[in-house]
Amino acid sequence: MLIVVDPGHGGLDSGAVGNGFFEKDINLSVSLKLRDILEANNVDIILTRDKDITLGLSERCDIANKNKADYFISIHCNSFKDSTAKGTETYSYPGSISGGKLAKSIQQAIVTNLNTVDRGVKTANFYVLHHTNMTAVLVELGFITNKEDLDLILNKRNLFAISISNGILNNIGLKQISKSDSIEKLHQMGFISDYYDPESYVKWKDIADALLKIIGG
Ligand SMILES: [Zn+2]
Repeated sequence: MLIVVDPGHGGLDSGAVGNGFFEKDINLSVSLKLRDILEANNVDIILTRDKDITLGLSERCDIANKNKADYFISIHCNSFKDSTAKGTETYSYPGSISGGKLAKSIQQAIVTNLNTVDRGVKTANFYVLHHTNMTAVLVELGFITNKEDLDLILNKRNLFAISISNGILNNIGLKQISKSDSIEKLHQMGFISDYYDPESYVKWKDIADALLKIIGG
């Protein structure tokens, strides 16, 4: 099982710009988290880029096609001149039944976990959906031009990544990452800084930071 994760834009192409943030940076940070979560679930992952470099659309497709990936997941943020536009939408290639199913699974996971506006599953003749040989979807996490969506993405990157991972794993019938009420509670109380994947490893620094917060150090 090989999944290619594609952080949209990069380098000279910033993607959408909103509230002082570049889409390329958000796409990359969510994709890096998604890689870590999927790797923790023993799924092989290739990122089309793991840093801020310029990469053409055909190069992204080539990476997936040459490596004979099973799935291609492109991560993007939306934008619109009207800053009230917000919500999540997921695209597949017109007529792709497997793409439509995967898009639906990812869309539902994000909307359920993040409470974003459900703009639905859509089809479009996007280059990376058309020129990849495998099941491919493009996720628009939310609108970078909408303050609420942007704050949510910036503060809950990990939960976006977990949701996309859950959507993928559910769809392909692999073990789903379990949710953890205790992690959520500790995060809300401020003892840990993010919604961590319950199955992922902990660094000593994280433990030390959490302990210091508990003893007020
Ligand atoms: Zn984009």
